[in-house]
Amino acid sequence: MITLKRFAFNPFQMNTYVLSDESGECIIIDAGMQGDDEEAEITNYITANNLKPVMMLLTHAHIDHIVGNSFIADRYNISLSAHKDCVPFLEGADGYASSFGLTLEKVKTIDNYIDENSNIKFGNSKLKVLFTPGHASGSLCFYSPTDKFVITGDVLFNQSIGRTDLKTGDYDLLQKSIWEKLFTLPDDTEVFPGHGAETTIGYEKVNNPFVAIGRE
Ligand SMILES: [Zn+2]
Ligand SMILES: [Zn+2]
Repeated sequence: MITLKRFAFNPFQMNTYVLSDESGECIIIDAGMQGDDEEAEITNYITANNLKPVMMLLTHAHIDHIVGNSFIADRYNISLSAHKDCVPFLEGADGYASSFGLTLEKVKTIDNYIDENSNIKFGNSKLKVLFTPGHASGSLCFYSPTDKFVITGDVLFNQSIGRTDLKTGDYDLLQKSIWEKLFTLPDDTEVFPGHGAETTIGYEKVNNPFVAIGRE
């Protein structure tokens, strides 16, 4: 069974998730920690729970989701997996960081390109990859059918959806991703978004004002 721990990091309060199972292996999704205190928060958790980080994943490469990648990669000597369409974002990352008041000393490049055909494995656990563009190119969601949760990045939030006014944003494509990839999951699937509190697929289908059933 997967244990999921959420940290809200950096001025954007971006959710970094540490997923672990009974094997002790863990993966880190969207490493967004900034500064000594936030770095200590996640490494203390990993140490206290005797976890072994084996991989980092990206839901997408907006700056708030990537600023801690180099720290984690160096600290644990692990690789970064993401969709190849994230590459252009990483190439411009230094510039984005300073314009958003974030510190990025070094950009961690992607080691492994993943898409819907990839199987994410750690310990005894597996995650399915869902390709969900629309908020940003290369957006992926990570789904566990056995533990009934999905990590949605900035695609779907508790009663909101990702903005589409940034580079590579596409409103119609985002709606398509949500309806075809997320709203086809079981209603009791827990949703862990890139910002804010968790929710469920069933709740969002009925209550999300941007995508609820019966609305445009
Ligand atoms: Zn984003
Ligand atoms: Zn974000």
